[in-house]
Amino acid sequence: MDVGVVVNNIGTAYAIYNAVRYGKPLIERVVTVTGDGIREPKNILTKIGTSFDFLIQNCGGFAGEPEKVIMGGPMMGTAQYTLKVPVIKGTSGLVVFQKKSEEVDSNYQPCIRCGRCIENCPMGISPNLYGLFFERGMYGGGIDFVNEAYKWNIMDCIECGVCSYVCPSNRPLVQFIKNLKSEVKKKKKTQ
Ligand code: SF4
Ligand code: SF4
Repeated sequence: MDVGVVVNNIGTAYAIYNAVRYGKPLIERVVTVTGDGIREPKNILTKIGTSFDFLIQNCGGFAGEPEKVIMGGPMMGTAQYTLKVPVIKGTSGLVVFQKKSEEVDSNYQPCIRCGRCIENCPMGISPNLYGLFFERGMYGGGIDFVNEAYKWNIMDCIECGVCSYVCPSNRPLVQFIKNLKSEVKKKKKTQ
């Protein structure tokens, strides 16, 4: 914005073209249905309002028993509790993981201080610390870890998911960060 330029993804650019050229509102979009829990992964041009259930059926259904259905990407998406959910303007994809899929291994390990998350963070902040703050905060100890996270610039995190991706201990750093950020916001409201 500072240099007067807006960068759009191709889906948005195409929707703008349709709106300007043909007067067509955003009534459909391409949704990627993928993951090892989907029998026939596809990119589907579908109407807004189509249920996730219907999309999955049109991709051959589940392959094996599903562990998680995630709306969005595997790192930043949101796990779904039901498939009776409609496609909306922001639904870019569905990722389905089978049970025992490595990508959603919840048996994460302690931080080994390797520093990979710090080296790769595009915002130059310290994801490893937020993980430790979150875990320690859960068990008390008299230190205000929410405040500590704020002081260590947790609000600069753009939730890109790189830290979780590179962590050899499979630590769910983005989930830790999201939880801590919401605690920081609650705290700031009451101050
Ligand atoms: S999710 Fe946040 S902390 Fe992790 S790499 Fe991205 S910006 Fe850095
Ligand atoms: S990448 Fe994982 S193990 Fe390595 S410092 Fe970061 S949180 Fe710790």
